[in-house]
Amino acid sequence: MISLNEAQQFVLRALTALTPVALPLQDALGCVAAEEVNARERVPGFSNAAMDGYALRAADTLNESVRLSVTGSVMAGDVPAKPLGAGEAMRIMTGAPLPSGADCVCMIEEVTIDPDGRAVLIDRVVRSGENVRHPGEDIDVGQVLITPGTELGPTQLGVLASQGFTSLLAHPRPRVGVLSTGNELTSSPEALPAGKVRDVNRPLLLALLRQSGFIPVDLGTVEDDAGAIAEELRRGVLACDAVVSTGGVSVGDVDFVKTVIGELCGERARSMQVAIRPGKPFAFGVTGSPGTPIFGLPGNPVSLLVGFELFVRPALRLLARHRVLERPTLNMVLDCALPRRRDGKLHLVHVVAKFHEDGRLHAERVVRGGSHLLSAIADANVIAIVPDGDGLDIGHIVPAMILDEDRLIPTPVRSTL
Ligand code: AMP
Ligand code: MG
Repeated sequence: MISLNEAQQFVLRALTALTPVALPLQDALGCVAAEEVNARERVPGFSNAAMDGYALRAADTLNESVRLSVTGSVMAGDVPAKPLGAGEAMRIMTGAPLPSGADCVCMIEEVTIDPDGRAVLIDRVVRSGENVRHPGEDIDVGQVLITPGTELGPTQLGVLASQGFTSLLAHPRPRVGVLSTGNELTSSPEALPAGKVRDVNRPLLLALLRQSGFIPVDLGTVEDDAGAIAEELRRGVLACDAVVSTGGVSVGDVDFVKTVIGELCGERARSMQVAIRPGKPFAFGVTGSPGTPIFGLPGNPVSLLVGFELFVRPALRLLARHRVLERPTLNMVLDCALPRRRDGKLHLVHVVAKFHEDGRLHAERVVRGGSHLLSAIADANVIAIVPDGDGLDIGHIVPAMILDEDRLIPTPVRSTL
């Protein structure tokens, strides 16, 4: 057996980030920028009203109360028809350009308007610049908007759109092929023939990949036949940036995947027994140049989930050039015991965890264990990382890998927000 750290390092060291491409902004959410982007326009581009109201000259309002004649109106998108003179006001709506001569806006709620709309009474001192948005207040020309390595969220994409950019150089989203292996598998919705099992791993992996922002590519199911597995993996490598297969990496008589990965990747492959439970058998290799990774995960669905979190997801995030590869990990207080036997392995235990009023994350319930028991872990939102030993009692602290942040808050707290 090798340590989890050694196995993870073997994977990560073998990988190179995908070559950046010009990505349309609408495809770039969650991708990582590969260039510095500088502002080419000021935002706002011109002085404009921050409120619906009247544009005027602050100097006209220095007395207690003043009547100004209304000489026109400017809506957002208009160009003011004329400048504004002393003793004048112009009706103006949010976002409309300030007429030249005006230096402030008095909000509509603070103005008394003559019934015919031709004059307004202002009975307060309005400061110069009040309710005016100034050119370049948000962004100035030449300002650095994006640096290489920036993860592109909605705000970054909005900022780029504010400059008229429609694409940028970024690392593409990895395309990831998914292959299920096993003579027992069927994908047909018909009644199960004797001895057959429905293919769970392929839909599971396709969903996991999509959820993490990658592009899943369905490579289908293949029988336990070394030649057929090799053919499908080769096909996947040609079409994808990475391939994940399930099943056939253990010590069974027809576990051919590990051998095939070895044949395809030569020196750059390794069939491992990782000191973790579940998910001990794991095969990995890289083929081609700079290299397409092939992951051979075990077939039991819970082992598969653990292998995805520990090996596949961080590796794919490296391909996409993310700075943070791992899920966030928090210390968690045990409200339930995590018993285990000493076996030289790190145990990865699916747990239902919530933040309590003490501000700490609490393990409320350990789900039923068993690497083949998928439905049992459906409620779990963290994976407790339990070190080798005799288990941990209530009150102990254990690191927890957060799988689903949205479900960390107890429901009653959320519904009162
Ligand atoms: P293996 O890793 O091929 O030895 O498979 C381990 C266990 O996982 C066996 O009970 C398989 O039937 C099961 N299994 C393998 N692949 C799948 C799959 N795609 N969907 C559901 N169960 C699977
Ligand atoms: Mg199998």
